[in-house]
Amino acid sequence: MTGTESKPGGIGADLLVAGRIMTGTREVGAVVAGGGKILFAGDAGEAEKRFSCPRRVEYSGGPVIPGLIDAHMHLSATGLGIISHDLRGSGSISEMAGRGAAMAAEHGFAVSSGWDQELFKERRYPSAADLDRAEAHRPMILYRFCTHVAVVNSRVLEMAGVDAGTPDPPGGMIGRDDAGNPDGLFYDNAVKLHIAPLEEKLVRPLIGSAVKAAADYAVTRGLTTLTAVNADIDEIRAVKALEREGLLRCRVRFFLSREAFESGAGRMERGEKGGMVRICGIKLFADGAFGARTALLSSSYSDMDTRGLRLTEEKEMEALIRKAAESGLQAAVHAIGDEGVMAALRSARAAGPGVTGFRLEHAALTPGPVREMLRGQRPVIVVQPHFLVSDWWLPARLGERCRDCYMFLSMLEDGLVLAGSSDAPVEPLDPWTGIIAAMDRGGHDGSPMAGLTGGEAVGLDDALKMYTSAAAAADGEEGVLGMLEPGAAADMVFLAGTPSTGMTTPPGVAATVVGGKLVYSVDDALSRAFS
Ligand SMILES: [Zn+2]
Repeated sequence: MTGTESKPGGIGADLLVAGRIMTGTREVGAVVAGGGKILFAGDAGEAEKRFSCPRRVEYSGGPVIPGLIDAHMHLSATGLGIISHDLRGSGSISEMAGRGAAMAAEHGFAVSSGWDQELFKERRYPSAADLDRAEAHRPMILYRFCTHVAVVNSRVLEMAGVDAGTPDPPGGMIGRDDAGNPDGLFYDNAVKLHIAPLEEKLVRPLIGSAVKAAADYAVTRGLTTLTAVNADIDEIRAVKALEREGLLRCRVRFFLSREAFESGAGRMERGEKGGMVRICGIKLFADGAFGARTALLSSSYSDMDTRGLRLTEEKEMEALIRKAAESGLQAAVHAIGDEGVMAALRSARAAGPGVTGFRLEHAALTPGPVREMLRGQRPVIVVQPHFLVSDWWLPARLGERCRDCYMFLSMLEDGLVLAGSSDAPVEPLDPWTGIIAAMDRGGHDGSPMAGLTGGEAVGLDDALKMYTSAAAAADGEEGVLGMLEPGAAADMVFLAGTPSTGMTTPPGVAATVVGGKLVYSVDDALSRAFS
């Protein structure tokens, strides 16, 4: 080809980026984008010769990598965490109540979490009377950091209709003063019964701002796609509204909650592959989690005589997976324990050959027999490397079986597609904490999992792949997202530093581009080049 080519394939080239560009498969000197997609990746000289681009960006900071994708996170919960005033580190009851009151003044109510009475100078639990001194009119629900205990002000007691005559529910307790009147504290099932439904209603109107806050934060960490699991109709509507208003900074993919699927969310406009918003599938649960000893094991937990819980019967799971496939949706099944993973795989196999894009979420405990099934059925595995840091208590629950947990390197060697994710707000919505944990197994954070499973550490290329091309494959958009090769979306991250396998701090994000457009930048030269 000779001469200047401004419209290859009918799309005008509008952006040339020269620098050290890792496309996901190779390193090149330049990429050219047009219409939001990559048109060319290769030699910088050749790019200059073949394309005349109105916008030309030369970058000599760190490498330019494909936009990062979080394959499993909870969108509105993460966003609500961002916009609420964090109560962690409150040194007194009045400080905690003051932070709550500040949120109430901003949003008309306060729902937040993070207090710990051990850190209060008063060394006691807070009460409704304490909260009322800071804010008595707007409702306030403030959770202890464990989220099993909440303290509320008298406005919430009134709205919830809880008084001296309200009995304690099974598995829960309402705190009371000497006269038997509720003192504002709610424990476990009393939170679920009296506070959670009220909280639902309070936060609903904030979902739009929550979702926006999560997307705005995501792009600062180099994320260009968020995969929202357990999505409900309101959340999807909120994201679509942001997109219409031009306020959505990153792409969002949805896996519907079972309830949303059964109430018809599957019939909503699905969106195109490579578009800003798309509904990919449904999310189902095979079992629970290690923390609560509800992940389903093939033999008892080490510290309690239980094997965990089966949350969906195999036949029911099979029918749901088939129903999803019939409506063109992927099934993503949460399965953590070894028996949970095998149950999910049996259901998927029984659902028949029409099932495509089957995903296993977590697949944490995978001893030999489980890996054999995985090799046979080859689901996409969506993992959360930062669990290696947070699950420091896992040896007590599982004993020696910990060695068969989070087997990233073995799964890659088995040829499986391993997608990275945060599970935010459970873990931080920052892909770099996951990338580092995948390489260092929680070692620099002092997690015992590093010693037990250090052999499963992956290198930088594999860790980055988890959050780019593999995560794209998990969402059914292999080759469309997660790489900087022709035909793929022009989603890129300009890194401030150079990442390495041994890094313990992120390389820093200088700028983030989604569909060829700059959505975040702290680099003046890049901001100017894109303006
Ligand atoms: Zn999750």
